[in-house]
Amino acid sequence: MPMNYTNSPIEQITFNNRKYFVKRDDLLHKDFSGNKARKFFYFLKNDFPNIKKIVSFGSAQSNAMYSLSVLCKLKDLKFDYYVDHIASFLKENPSGNYKYALDNGMNIKEQEIPTIFNDDVLFISEGGAIKEACFGIEILAKEIIFWAKENKIDNLKVFLPSGTGTTALYLQKYLPFEVLTCACVGDEDYLEKQFNMLEKSNHPTIIRRQKKYHFGKLYKEFYEIHNELLKQTNIEFDFLYDCLGWICYEKYLNKIDNDTFESLYIHQGGILGNISMNERYKHKYNK
Ligand SMILES: *Cc1c(COP(=O)(O)O)cnc(C)c1O
Repeated sequence: MPMNYTNSPIEQITFNNRKYFVKRDDLLHKDFSGNKARKFFYFLKNDFPNIKKIVSFGSAQSNAMYSLSVLCKLKDLKFDYYVDHIASFLKENPSGNYKYALDNGMNIKEQEIPTIFNDDVLFISEGGAIKEACFGIEILAKEIIFWAKENKIDNLKVFLPSGTGTTALYLQKYLPFEVLTCACVGDEDYLEKQFNMLEKSNHPTIIRRQKKYHFGKLYKEFYEIHNELLKQTNIEFDFLYDCLGWICYEKYLNKIDNDTFESLYIHQGGILGNISMNERYKHKYNK
């Protein structure tokens, strides 16, 4: 097994005249990278001799869906994925996560999820909001602690945008630094509830958004900050989480005395999902 399922590099960047470090989890293994590689690492590393199939559900363009398809291919398991609906355009023009997950042998099912499964099925809830995620996220935390020690950084804030909040929560559990996040999928109350489902205390700090955003919708300011990040740092960030993440974290830094600590931004991958988003953005704003 190649080593690069873990231990991603940390780079220093300058964005809008401010210095940041970026943990490049987008540069883990080319097929199994980013947030979902960390969350599903437990299933990659361990053997489950009685399991023949993984079952999950969610949207037809999700990063979790793609990463599970890779996992099932590597582990020689079947993969059934349930969706409410597949847009007819996507069916006729497969792209991004959907296309590559199908190539990996995913059985996509546009129907209700069964309520009972055979004993040989491993069920994984939407977006990988599972306790087993702590296994891979503890490794991520250890890489950050090691790096901070090596570079004699003892005052660090770690930022990452949240979906289910699983990653931010477990990072806070294993890191001796403050972890900050913002809500990208639901609102702040949803995120707090998600944290509470996994752990009762020691939650990350939630930076509130300035306005309501709906997950997967297009916003001009998202497109602008995505392009600006690409131009200034030469790093491609994801549209669904990172654009809002950067907007929130910059606003937060503008409001406080930020000379007293270093910032580490976690790049959680998701670039495969950018293919279809980029087409939609270009179509809308690059006329
Ligand atoms: C899944 C995902 C997230 C959200 O992770 P949670 O643990 O659900 O908060 C953020 N960024 C990317 C790129 C993702 O794929």
